[in-house]
Amino acid sequence: MKYKEAHDTVTFDDVLEVCSTYISKQESITLIKKAYDYIMIKHDGQKRKSGEPYTIHLIWVAYILSTLQTGPTTIAAGLLHDVMEDCEVSREEMIELFGEEITSLVEGVTKINKMPFKDEADIYAENHRKIYIAMARDIRVILIKLADRLHNMRTLQYMRPDKQQRISRETLEVYAPIAHRLGINDIRIELEDLCLNYLDPKAYQEISDLLEQKRSERKDSVDKMMKSVKELLDTHHIEYRIKGRAKHIYSIYKKMVIKHKRFDELYDLNALRVILKTKMKCYEVLGIIHDHYRPLPGRFKDYIAMPKPNMYQSLHTAIIGEGGHIFEIQIRTEEMDELAERGVASHWRYKENKTYSSKQEQKDIVDKLQWLGDFITLSDEIKDGDAKEFYDSLRRDIFEANVYVMTPQGKIVELPNGSTPIDFAYRIHTEVGHHAVGAIVNNVMVPINTKLKTGDVCEIKTNKNSGPSEDWLKFVRTAGARNKIRQYISKKDAETHKETIEDGKKLLREEIRKRELDEKKYMDSDTYKSYYGSFGANNFDDLMFVIGKKQATAATLLDKVIPNHTGFFDNLSKMLKKNNANKNQMKSSSLGISVKGVDGLKIQLSKCCNPIPGDDIVGYVSKGQGIKVHCQHCPNIQGAEKGRIIDVYWDYTNIMEKRFDVDIEIIGLDRPNLLNDIITVLGQVKVNILNINAGVHDMEADIKLKLSVENAELLQLTINNLNKIQGIYEIKRVIH
Ligand code: MN
Repeated sequence: MKYKEAHDTVTFDDVLEVCSTYISKQESITLIKKAYDYIMIKHDGQKRKSGEPYTIHLIWVAYILSTLQTGPTTIAAGLLHDVMEDCEVSREEMIELFGEEITSLVEGVTKINKMPFKDEADIYAENHRKIYIAMARDIRVILIKLADRLHNMRTLQYMRPDKQQRISRETLEVYAPIAHRLGINDIRIELEDLCLNYLDPKAYQEISDLLEQKRSERKDSVDKMMKSVKELLDTHHIEYRIKGRAKHIYSIYKKMVIKHKRFDELYDLNALRVILKTKMKCYEVLGIIHDHYRPLPGRFKDYIAMPKPNMYQSLHTAIIGEGGHIFEIQIRTEEMDELAERGVASHWRYKENKTYSSKQEQKDIVDKLQWLGDFITLSDEIKDGDAKEFYDSLRRDIFEANVYVMTPQGKIVELPNGSTPIDFAYRIHTEVGHHAVGAIVNNVMVPINTKLKTGDVCEIKTNKNSGPSEDWLKFVRTAGARNKIRQYISKKDAETHKETIEDGKKLLREEIRKRELDEKKYMDSDTYKSYYGSFGANNFDDLMFVIGKKQATAATLLDKVIPNHTGFFDNLSKMLKKNNANKNQMKSSSLGISVKGVDGLKIQLSKCCNPIPGDDIVGYVSKGQGIKVHCQHCPNIQGAEKGRIIDVYWDYTNIMEKRFDVDIEIIGLDRPNLLNDIITVLGQVKVNILNINAGVHDMEADIKLKLSVENAELLQLTINNLNKIQGIYEIKRVIH
């Protein structure tokens, strides 16, 4: 049927007439009538800027939706789309009268109306489109909004000039591309031309004048070409439909302005479209045409085999036709043509009466719908069974596939659904991701594995000393973040691995020098060949890694290699010899600390730095209180009188105490379960907690722990494991 055009008048009967061509259920028609009766009462007396009754607008919206062959729910919602906003009808009343579904569609349209489109945000027009779509959730809301906007654009002359400009720009940047994306060419073309008329009226007028001047000339050559193609196809007994095609003003404008072409250079103003019954016929006709006319090289495009992202399918070619004119020829099936003109909505007309029983068929459609990417239509008619389930899963997969999250500066970042602040951080910048320690979402500090939602404003807290943790791999959603974390970790591992090997060699060299061994021999890997296995190593580097990592000491290694060597004590005795000291003068206190040359003195571990076995220690001879043992680096003894400092050693064989107290302080970004994670780690390494003191300032957690540990090696292991906890960026031993 022939649809009404912009300047025609439409009545509700016209809407019903179009509906009757594809809606058969009486109750569906009743629903549309009910919505109509309701708006006639509710909007009674309201006028448009044009002076017409407001309801004309609503009837037009319903009419446009019916030409897109949307279902009865969408048409009813189209009639009702302004009733909640303009007539203050409550949600409850809407639900009672029209049900949840229509109410949510009307609410969706109202919500979009309230979204600001600011001029400064122009560069993010693409993002605005996406946000509109994501917020609308349901493609039917977008279809209603497009119909609404189309009618508003048609009646824009009644608006103030500044509003005309703003609305036209928004339409050109947001709504026309949405229509294009949905493949609704009719609406896109009309919107674009209407917008251009307001945004660049001079150019619009020039182009339409030029088109007018050349009209008869063009019509002539198109008619001749059409006749020629018809004759050709008839001789091949092909069943076809053929039409000439006019380019719309905005597309000519784009070519002239953007591609800097003159009007008479736009040869594809001459275009023909051949419409056939089957796909195979399309290729057959292409062959016939290429065989008869000379095709222009590089102009053939097979969008049937490779559909455009908006599902557009057609064969395109350009040939040199009658009178040497260049013609663009499009070849496609009826279904493809319908889809190209009326987009997604028409697609469902072909599909919605089917049920998708076979899995393969479902897969085919999902594949076909890849183009939708962000969104997908839902047909009104599909309510139950396999088809319903299919649409629901499709909606989950595609419609809800993405979330749009904003930076505090208003930049929109598109992420797959289920993405976390870490994904967001890596999307902002690799360095932001690498050093992320926390996230603030909508002004609230959240764990970095929180799932982000559309509309969230996310801010990332970074610390330059912090790096990605392997745990992040468990929750990140984007491949980008995953790859960057892996890269970082493997690079870091390689670096530390090398460093650790060097550390191991250094420790071994020190031990060799201490024992006055032959450095050349004992630094040579050959010396250790038969001992690799007992340290779980495969080669010398591995062995040095074990030493460097302090999983074994250089002393232990040398003890193994040099039989009858008692290592530590031998080492000590050598030192004592060197100092001309008497071996017997070595005494151990019950603490397991040996003091050179002194006997029977009271020995105490100092309370400021709490030395533990394995720490480098020195003794301080205090007045009347015996010897106080400090860590070598304890600041409290750095200024001490030289004479009061004496060498002391741990006597590892005589340590009576099993455990020693040590204070550590942990600083990190506060988050739920932080303390819990710390306690879990301490449990894993079997370290006792004597006291916990935790505080939070400015979202920073400061946790002071008094631990009871056996030795420095265990403390180091504990600190290493604590460092892996998410959000922690500093751990230090406390010296009082
Ligand atoms: Mn409206």
